[in-house]
Amino acid sequence: MGGSLSRVLTELSDVESHINLSKEEKRAFKEVVPVFPFSSSLYYLKLASRSKAVRRMLLPSLEEIDEEIQSPGELDPLCEERDKKTPFLTHRYPDRVLIVTTNFCPVLCRFCMRKRNWLKPKFFIDEGEIEKALSYIKENPKVRDVLISGGDPLTLPLERLERLLSGLERIEHVDIVRIGTRIPIVDPERLFDENLLNVLERGKKVWINTHFNHPDEITEVSKEAVGRLLERRIPVNNQTVLLKGVNDNVDTLTELFSRLQRIKVRPYYLFHCDPVKGVMHFSTTITLGVEIVKELFKRLSPLAIPYYAVDGPGGLGKVPVMPKRFRKIKDGYIFESFNGKKFFMEDR
Ligand SMILES: *Cc1c(COP(=O)(O)O)cnc(C)c1O
Ligand code: SF4
Repeated sequence: MGGSLSRVLTELSDVESHINLSKEEKRAFKEVVPVFPFSSSLYYLKLASRSKAVRRMLLPSLEEIDEEIQSPGELDPLCEERDKKTPFLTHRYPDRVLIVTTNFCPVLCRFCMRKRNWLKPKFFIDEGEIEKALSYIKENPKVRDVLISGGDPLTLPLERLERLLSGLERIEHVDIVRIGTRIPIVDPERLFDENLLNVLERGKKVWINTHFNHPDEITEVSKEAVGRLLERRIPVNNQTVLLKGVNDNVDTLTELFSRLQRIKVRPYYLFHCDPVKGVMHFSTTITLGVEIVKELFKRLSPLAIPYYAVDGPGGLGKVPVMPKRFRKIKDGYIFESFNGKKFFMEDR
């Protein structure tokens, strides 16, 4: 585990000493946790006691194991296990690779599409596997963009994270290294650690992709954590998942994206919730997602609006699904303005 990672709480008794649970929540905890475990930082648990949305993302619910609700879901609809080139590296798009560095997360999100892996033994990528991934990238000069994901990569032992980032820094054809992490949201004080910040900064090409889903997650502390990254010249972008009962309405997302801009985090993706077993109770229709984004364009600048995207089944990759505001006619296009006015432009 990373040196200064805060303690995690996994037991019902730990949870109950910090937050009052209803009878129903206790029952859900006991019945669901043997199937899909529980884990939280103290910080995020306290946040859950003040926010209904965070509570829904953090506490186990009987819906997770309700056969009727979950039966349309699959375990691995995106076939992530298939496109692997080394045990830890997936190469799907020509210019980008994904390195899954661990399956460990200090906070387990109930909507996680990888919750099938939660009961597997905890792993961290080791030195040998880091070398294999680096060699693969060295031999493939088209790879210019490296995603580091998990689990949460910022929980990696610091020497290994440093080895990986400095290796990538030295590969000439790599332009960008993106680390996907929820640490700024679930354990922000971890980012007050100068040693970790130094490693990220020395990585030179590092960008951080965070995962804020609700405005309640933007606190003074998480804002400070993001600030520490920005100070080190690390750009911060955000990926949100559209979640029923958490953020599936225009008002919540308008507030989330505008507040992210205030803390200088660029909204990058709004993912459609994948049909994963154990997560179906969070899934909305695609139609709702498109309608929400259409409405967002009336309220916000595109600089505050992420790409709404679905992830194709069987590893076909992400597809942006934006509201359609133009159509081709004979010799030109009909467009729709932000306030619903139609206009024509000739195609020449
Ligand atoms: C999401 C993903 C990427 C990165 O996709 P972007 O659309 O560039 O953010 C790369 N490889 C795999 C396997 C992915 O799942
Ligand atoms: S941080 Fe990401 S990988 Fe970890 S449990 Fe949450 S959604 Fe899943």
